[in-house]
Amino acid sequence: MKQYPRPLGRLVNELSKMPGIGGKTAQRLAFHILSLSDEEAKALAFAITDAKENMKYCSVCGNLTDQEPCAICRDKARRQDIICVVESPKDVMAMERMKEFDGLYHVLHGAISPMDGVGPEDINLKQLILRLQNTDVQELILATNPNIEGEATAMYIARLIKPSGIKVSRIANGIPVGGDLEYADEVTLLKAMEGRREL
Ligand SMILES: [Zn+2]
Repeated sequence: MKQYPRPLGRLVNELSKMPGIGGKTAQRLAFHILSLSDEEAKALAFAITDAKENMKYCSVCGNLTDQEPCAICRDKARRQDIICVVESPKDVMAMERMKEFDGLYHVLHGAISPMDGVGPEDINLKQLILRLQNTDVQELILATNPNIEGEATAMYIARLIKPSGIKVSRIANGIPVGGDLEYADEVTLLKAMEGRREL
């Protein structure tokens, strides 16, 4: 970043580390930030450090939250006997946008991927087993992404849980294969949930 004065170069460099942000976009964002008022720039910087400091993973379900446990886990109006298993907090947000599912979630923070050296012990699976042992859950909906890793993860969990007698289902293939749950529209997601089949 030799072409920029040092503080600007640093800002462009940090911004270019963001996903989907190339050098040109980083530069455009940096110039935009420089054009902000002091208050606006401070509010942006504060929003970053505040979110980083105050957002945690719920110790029960693994979802992102600023409270412990998260608002969904604390909500006794939701069904306590059904857990939807997803890969990431973004998937919880996608499911919540659908406004149909009123059970609980469990966030795995990844998927099993032997190719990338990610095994069952590397995702938030142990906590799920503990939850199932200590609560009266009747159904587990596996809503991992419809790609190789997501399918492998769903199969692994199904094999692990089924002997316990808990109903294990997999969301239907309304979501395009290789697609991400978080990008599915509400109707597709709703169809996928309604069409779930027992494993
Ligand atoms: Zn939670």
